Amino acid sequence: MVYYKTKEEIELIRQSCLLVCKALSEVGSILKPGITGLEIDRVAETVIRDHGAVPGFKGYNGFPATLCVSVNEQVVHGIPTEMVFKDGDIISVDCGVYMNDFFGDSAYTFPIGEVSDDVLRLLKTTNTSLYKAIDKAVEGNRIGDIGHAVQYYAERENNYGVVRELVGHGIGRSLHEAPEVPNYGRKGNGPKMKEGLVIAIEPMINMGKRAIGHAEDGWTIITKDHKPSAHFEHTVAVGREKADILSDHTLIESALDKNPNVQAVGVF
Ligand code: MG
Ligand code: MG
Repeated sequence: MVYYKTKEEIELIRQSCLLVCKALSEVGSILKPGITGLEIDRVAETVIRDHGAVPGFKGYNGFPATLCVSVNEQVVHGIPTEMVFKDGDIISVDCGVYMNDFFGDSAYTFPIGEVSDDVLRLLKTTNTSLYKAIDKAVEGNRIGDIGHAVQYYAERENNYGVVRELVGHGIGRSLHEAPEVPNYGRKGNGPKMKEGLVIAIEPMINMGKRAIGHAEDGWTIITKDHKPSAHFEHTVAVGREKADILSDHTLIESALDKNPNVQAVGVF
């Protein structure tokens, strides 16, 4: 069942998404070598609760934290730990908020300190693939057009691995609603989109092969070949002419511009 949102509901989702990005920008402002996943998780939770909202992931299917913190070869769903981040790590931070009955969801992958050019290219390509996908989130297009945009750019043009097993999703009163939004697909395939559909688009792109596995904690997804993986996510409302991006990574990137330890990723 797909729930189409009213303009008022979309504004509530936007408020939740902006709080997610506020939490991610606070995280971005303190990230540096030597800090831990648990420390950034506490910061994010405080920001969210100080705004009268609730962390969207904590307790979801038993997930124990506010943030999914996925380091290097970890793709998504990493649990924050005491392990310190090192110079050259990439940290995918995924955050959800529940406020005024609606969820917001967004993710950004942060390069810590000096990151190799190869890995920075992976990040920037993944982020670029997200915006190419968002360009397709227009009334009349199909969900397959979104997946095709990511897959064509990341796989065909850049020879990276596109994770198939985990997908984007509708979002609203539930964190995960129909439809599923895969990062692969064929043009003109899948459900047709119309105004009022709100979806989280979240390419997960591997530097090597697309194959993934589960870590022993039962949550963390890792690349089979242990090469790095990147993840960027926006929540967007499908529009008649263009998509309305409800989350805002400029909040995160302006915080990073003031943090000498982490550079903003940007797009090609
Ligand atoms: Mg997310
Ligand atoms: Mg999501």
